[in-house]
Amino acid sequence: MPDPKSNKLTRRHFVGAAGAGLGLAALYYNWPRNEKETKNPALQTAPEAGPSLGIALAGLGMYAIGELAPALQQTKRSHLAGLISGTSSKRKKYGKEYQIDDQHIYTYETFDQIADDDAIDAVYVVLPNAMHAEYSIRAAEAGKHVICEKPMAVSVAECEKMIDACKANGVTLNVGYRLHHDPHHDALREAAKTLPLGPVTSIQSEFGFRMKDLSHWRLHKELSGGGPLMDVGIYCIQAARYCTDEEPIAVTAREYKTDPETYYSVEETILWEMEFPSGVVAACHSSYNYRCERLYVAYSNYHTAELSPAYYYRGIEGNLGKEVFDFGDHSQQAAHMDAISRSIYDGIPTTTGGEEGLQDMRIIEAIYKSAQNGGIRVSLA
Ligand code: NDP
Repeated sequence: MPDPKSNKLTRRHFVGAAGAGLGLAALYYNWPRNEKETKNPALQTAPEAGPSLGIALAGLGMYAIGELAPALQQTKRSHLAGLISGTSSKRKKYGKEYQIDDQHIYTYETFDQIADDDAIDAVYVVLPNAMHAEYSIRAAEAGKHVICEKPMAVSVAECEKMIDACKANGVTLNVGYRLHHDPHHDALREAAKTLPLGPVTSIQSEFGFRMKDLSHWRLHKELSGGGPLMDVGIYCIQAARYCTDEEPIAVTAREYKTDPETYYSVEETILWEMEFPSGVVAACHSSYNYRCERLYVAYSNYHTAELSPAYYYRGIEGNLGKEVFDFGDHSQQAAHMDAISRSIYDGIPTTTGGEEGLQDMRIIEAIYKSAQNGGIRVSLA
């Protein structure tokens, strides 16, 4: 365990903690592993006509190996083309498992050589949050399209630099907002535009889990940028925005800590409200101290939508008014990566571009500002 007061946390330490993250994911997410889905014949998809985007995964941790690499076995317009890892055993193991030749496997030190690797069209940055900006910018400068996990970065300033770097190098930038390719969330997003139940009147949203690994990089601001708000609360922010189809004009927030030693640099639990121009208020909370995971939307005709669980990779359940959802199996990640490929090759725009990540970061910064100043109302207008 690191000295919680020390900022000198080595990479070796965090990689060890990251390995434990696999167990953490199984613990807090409690859903079937994706390998099982990959073997489901119903999910074996035929390739689609058109070029396939060659994606290199940067950072072979819980999400890259547990979800993204298996999803890339289900995609129609994208494929796994390279690996970037600081851990030699992972480079060897996953190179073999996914049949990636050594010439397409990189370390962080050799990362920039991907500029000469024509098999790799895009880099998917799946590193700790504070490393997103650096590796996204390096990927853009190597002439590769960028997909970056959420949160896009750890500050508005970093997000802006990433957008500028991608523009300057003529490559696209997307954030790993997988729920833009989930049918439950699509239905709520559509309802905000077509108003079958009338306008939204209020929203409640929550996403948290109990952090068991107290040495994890997520608890150290220098690598995470923040606590549960940055990590999973961001899904509540996203949902409030797309369920209203509006942008918030102000936020208020409060932070609570029961264990200041563990949560010495990030929040333990945070509650916040987002005010929208129509008068809708979204009441949200997120925590590393308890599990919660629900989205509730009230509409003006007295119907409601409720997703619970709301934000998982799979197993989302819920309704929109009288419609009870039953969408069956699907891979949010495969659908998202294919959509990014279609945006690049066919010109069909994505909804997960850098501006989307930047807007969430503006809201996150405002929420932290409010929480750190006794819950003052922070305007976003
Ligand atoms: P992990 O800790 O499991 O993996 C991160 C990987 O980054 C490590 O395994 C390691 O890979 C690499 N790494 C490089 N430097 C460091 C360092 N100093 N400390 C720790 N790891 C390092 O994290 P997750 O996979 O859970 O999260 C990665 C990113 O993905 C985060 O930004 C997170 O927010 C996002 N995420 C998104 C999800 C979604 O649903 N969209 C779900 C889960 C995570 P290597 O050994 O190969 O170098």
